[in-house]
Amino acid sequence: MNAPLFPRSTATVPVTPDPAGTRQPLRQRGQREVFCGLTSIIWLHRKMPDAFFLIVGSRTCAHLMQSAAGVMIFAEPRFATAVIDERDLAGMADLHEELDRVVERLLARRPEIRMLVLVGSCPSEVIKLDLGKAAERLGARHAPAVRMLSYSGSGIETTFTEGEDRFLAALVPQMPAEAQDAPPSLIVAGCLADVVEDQFRRIFEALGIGPVAFLPPRSAGALPSVGPQTRLLLAQPYLAETARALQGRGAQLLAAPFPLGEQGTTAWLLAAADAFGVTRERFAAVTDPGRARARTAVARYRPMLEGKRLFFFPDSQLEPSMARFLHRELGCEIAEIGSPFLHRTHLAPEFALLPDTIPISEGQDVDRQLDRCRAERPDLTVCGMGLANPLEAEGLATKWSIELVFTPVQGFDQAGDLAGLFARPLQRAERLKVGI
Ligand code: SF4
Repeated sequence: MNAPLFPRSTATVPVTPDPAGTRQPLRQRGQREVFCGLTSIIWLHRKMPDAFFLIVGSRTCAHLMQSAAGVMIFAEPRFATAVIDERDLAGMADLHEELDRVVERLLARRPEIRMLVLVGSCPSEVIKLDLGKAAERLGARHAPAVRMLSYSGSGIETTFTEGEDRFLAALVPQMPAEAQDAPPSLIVAGCLADVVEDQFRRIFEALGIGPVAFLPPRSAGALPSVGPQTRLLLAQPYLAETARALQGRGAQLLAAPFPLGEQGTTAWLLAAADAFGVTRERFAAVTDPGRARARTAVARYRPMLEGKRLFFFPDSQLEPSMARFLHRELGCEIAEIGSPFLHRTHLAPEFALLPDTIPISEGQDVDRQLDRCRAERPDLTVCGMGLANPLEAEGLATKWSIELVFTPVQGFDQAGDLAGLFARPLQRAERLKVGI
């Protein structure tokens, strides 16, 4: 017999309007330990092979990108840093000329570049530089061969996943308007691994949902059109600016949990299916095999994770979705869900699936949160790289949250891998305990 359809859909279940607000999350405004938005270039540059990300920054930015991404580059990189040294205001005109020269040299050497993205950073010289204007000026010079745009990945303004949000939001003004008589279409916003994107594309096709476009597209020339006939499904929870920009162009946001685990993926697909009038019978026929595969794959990890207590430090903004998956599908207990930001509307469907007894915190005050974590002594702490080593030294098993962004984890066929990411550090801690 088929498992019952996951009960959440935009059509049948009213979404709690502001569950995080009614729960009164702990709001923290202290020191935070999160990478800056430049870090997202590490996955963005792989997604659009004909785009190039030129960071306008300092030696610190160059070192961050080198050390964070250096080990992952096997071909000629599609990002670089134009290092801006200290200079006074009088030197700003030269700075524009210098930037122009760097761009000319780059485009002459790399004729395959179709989109050049100027990425701002924190040094005061860069803040003074109007990168938007620079992109306009350079865009006029190099159009139509190269599209130019800019956004800020500065650590003052962005955490690491917000870098992706800023990039996607910068793409929105460049998207063409949909035709007057355009049929309903779907845009899935948020970087997904190609393999995951292909799986979703096949499912949407089998459901008869289309045309479907993914943002970002795989090439600079394939930006989808947008307008009032566009339905918008977010694949990532950290896309506040992007969603706002797309809604500003008329797109209608579909409320759904995020496609993590069997339940999240089912509810996410169901939101699209309901918006396109797909019958429940057809939905079940298309998704049942994938749901069964996901349940089987996840069940393998349940003995390792059931009853384990997890603590989430704020890092990727994926924390509420991860906690929902681990709690509902693996029987984990959640000691605290920390997230750098809680977007009330986008996260409402996630919080509707979590018990309201779980403490939630927004922002960070790292010392206080460390105290709470130490008091809890969780079985597994999900946190940024900077906190992981000290916590391991205190005997706490940890999971780097940045791995969850790099690894394909969305969709039915990745649900087992997602569970495995949390099971492995626990197994390792067990082995260390018994000295294997
Ligand atoms: S953008 Fe700011 S936080 Fe990020 S590497 Fe550069 S200086 Fe550091």
